[in-house]
Amino acid sequence: MQRIIIVGAGFGGLRLAQDLINHPNYEIYLIDKQNYHQFQPLMYQVASARLEPASISFPLRKVFQKAKNVRIRITKVTEIDHKNQFIKTTIGDFSYDHLVMAMGCTTNYFGNQNLKDYAYPMKTIPEAIQLRNRILQTFENALNTTNPKELQSLLNFVIVGGGPTGVELAGALSEMKKNILPKDYPDKDFSKLTIYLLEGSPHTLSPMSKGSQTMSQKYLESLGVIVKTSTFVKDYDGLVVSLNTGEQIDSKNVIWAAGVIGNTIEGFPEDCFTRGNRFVVDQNNKVEALNNVYAIGDIAYMSTEKYPNGHPQVASVALQQGALLSKNFNKLANNKPLKPFKYTDKGSMATIGKRRAVVDLPKFSFQGQMAWFTWMFIHLMLILSIKNKLLVFMNWMISYFNNDSTLRIIMKPVVDKVKNREEKCH
Ligand SMILES: Cc1cc2nc3c(=O)[nH]c(=O)nc-3n(C[C@H](O)[C@H](O)[C@H](O)COP(=O)(O)OP(=O)(O)OC[C@H]3O[C@@H](n4cnc5c(N)ncnc54)[C@H](O)[C@@H]3O)c2cc1C
Repeated sequence: MQRIIIVGAGFGGLRLAQDLINHPNYEIYLIDKQNYHQFQPLMYQVASARLEPASISFPLRKVFQKAKNVRIRITKVTEIDHKNQFIKTTIGDFSYDHLVMAMGCTTNYFGNQNLKDYAYPMKTIPEAIQLRNRILQTFENALNTTNPKELQSLLNFVIVGGGPTGVELAGALSEMKKNILPKDYPDKDFSKLTIYLLEGSPHTLSPMSKGSQTMSQKYLESLGVIVKTSTFVKDYDGLVVSLNTGEQIDSKNVIWAAGVIGNTIEGFPEDCFTRGNRFVVDQNNKVEALNNVYAIGDIAYMSTEKYPNGHPQVASVALQQGALLSKNFNKLANNKPLKPFKYTDKGSMATIGKRRAVVDLPKFSFQGQMAWFTWMFIHLMLILSIKNKLLVFMNWMISYFNNDSTLRIIMKPVVDKVKNREEKCH
């Protein structure tokens, strides 16, 4: 058997590994630094305390319980030795016949260390929980703050990035302000809580249709969100956000959803990469500069006639590339010619609060309540496992009728005993 190492069990890596389950020619090593697969599209609902983290995460070992040829290793991959065909990890080295990089992206602060230090990202489940803690703690802190300037700084939430993540989070926060805070804090006036959404381009949801752009901004404004387009953050010192327009906003809560950059490991020659740390791949997702190394999903850059600047960094591209690569590994095992990748764009969507969403399908787009039902249905279909689908559906139904949830838990990290012991022993 030949060994395929897949680095990353996100949308692309997981699909590839699933499609190669019990393949007679391949032994699969699926390596991820986390022991679960995460469903990023609903992460903003974890951050806004509408869903439990476990409803949008799925343990990898459970997925592969019946797979005889899949080995799972939970560790961070740190380096590649492509000449000798092995990778280095925090638990040891692994050799490969074929390597698939499916490591996805991380938050891009565009080199601004202040933003990295002070703004809250939302790219992983732990980050979504951290943001949930921060949002809930802010309400508690506001209770005990009497200085008006300090209070306003706490109550100003600045979301940077008007893509689906920023738009959906802004909608969720404004619904929290309207439906939850008056009930949870009858002794505090939260009317001054202000949600800003900043977007660098002239429109929110800029890759979507004109109708979806216009309606998303309209929906947000009707919920009280202050939308500022063609607006960039120049700096943030942890207290004041400075904008390109010269305006300044006092805020202790800046949420950064404004860009991504590919995760990297050491050892790759420079000519493997293009902008955004993406691997330059051919039509079969093979890294052009190396043999037996492939890249799929967010970190792959495949220039085609239709997508000269690479495919959009969305889940469906990763899923389709993972699915095709598994078929191509099968062809490789049977000495058949490989099939080039062709992306089928099934559309995009975003929701803005209750009963409002925007949906772009390949041939037409629609907005409003029908779009919201479509959004819910598609997301339920995409979540892994029946149990998680039911959990999410139940939570949504309950909060649909009572505009509330019971998930507003501030879960603070505790001291790691293992780390304590190891430090003592050394
Ligand atoms: C908040 C948010 C909302 C989104 N909403 C949507 C949406 O509505 N629709 C949509 O289509 N797309 C959405 N996306 C984008 C979508 O999630 C990505 O396009 C998709 O996850 C890419 O899949 P991937 O397999 O390339 O990488 P990922 O799914 O990001 O998976 C990468 C995996 O690699 C692992 N990893 C990284 N580095 C290492 C390392 N050194 N060692 C070991 N493991 C490593 C990570 O732990 C992770 O499990 C959203 C993204 C975010 C962050």
